[in-house]
Amino acid sequence: MGEFELIDAHFKKLGRSNGHAVDLGIGDDCALVSVPPSQQLALSSDTLIEDVHFIKGSPPEDIGYRALAVNLSDLAAMGAKPAWFTLCLSLPNVDEQWVAGFCRGMHELCREFDVALIGGDTTSGSQLTITIQVFGLVDRGLALTRQGAREGDHIYVSGRVGEAGLGLMLSKETQPGDAMDSDLQTAVTRFQRPEPRVNLGLRLSGMASSCIDVSDGLLADLNHILESSSVGAELNLEAIPVASSLYNENTVRHLPKSLADASHDQRRLWALGAGDDYELCFTAAPDRAGAIHSIASALALPITRIGQVIAGQGMTESHGQRRPIDPRGYQHF
Ligand code: ADP
Ligand code: MG
Repeated sequence: MGEFELIDAHFKKLGRSNGHAVDLGIGDDCALVSVPPSQQLALSSDTLIEDVHFIKGSPPEDIGYRALAVNLSDLAAMGAKPAWFTLCLSLPNVDEQWVAGFCRGMHELCREFDVALIGGDTTSGSQLTITIQVFGLVDRGLALTRQGAREGDHIYVSGRVGEAGLGLMLSKETQPGDAMDSDLQTAVTRFQRPEPRVNLGLRLSGMASSCIDVSDGLLADLNHILESSSVGAELNLEAIPVASSLYNENTVRHLPKSLADASHDQRRLWALGAGDDYELCFTAAPDRAGAIHSIASALALPITRIGQVIAGQGMTESHGQRRPIDPRGYQHF
């Protein structure tokens, strides 16, 4: 099966959109789309390379899902509504079954967020490489950036952190197809199938003062907001919600001994430095607290206040000895 058959048989199916006009989709030299004059185009791309960003031999459905999910997460962090994406694939060989599975994984997210594939490129290369570019729409002037945090703002995080990092470690320890108990499987799924917080980002637009998605670790990503906004933060480390499986001996005993033997506090610090959760970390003025609480209820998604923005720079603990916090978290595992 050649490049054009692959495109016709698999990629074109992902090109449907209900919400956003695709003036010209897959099949010409360029795609054409229209951006309403009251909106701005938000665009971002991410590359995933086999054995660097995902584990060789992972199910193609999961690879396709994750490749699109991490890109949609960047739109979520800007408060943009996903509209279109392009896909550049470099394949070591043409395995139609693999491509079909990969497209099924992406299709789940295309339907959920009404995003359409509008073009791309297909080449052969020695290492499986996937580059997706996403395009979203945001009302002019309302995008959530990293620059808007102000002294006195509250700092929040959605969901729980640390579980995807645990899942990544666990999946390195096991072979695809190995039987796993359900707690381990839940952690691995959190890594393979992150949920882009698109609906949260949309509701935060015009409400939050700054926002970022947690891809590299909560503390490291929050630090990007602080640096871009030229402010500091006081954090209540104990308030930060971490995955319960980190305290589950059944899960943790499969991990490197140093983490399994660590105290609860050390595991928490590890979670604050672990990546891949794709939750949103954001700041908002104190008078938005009630509205943020309502958003959490409406989305049935926990949103936790973890600290506040202060003048100055860097992060410190808000309680006890008010020690400085290293943005890398606890890295000795
Ligand atoms: P060109 O030679 O003009 O770059 P191609 O032969 O690479 O065009 O691609 C033909 C059409 O198929 C184009 O519209 C391109 O955007 C689309 N396409 C190619 N590969 C992909 C892919 N992996 N996903 C989506 N669309 C693709
Ligand atoms: Mg081409």
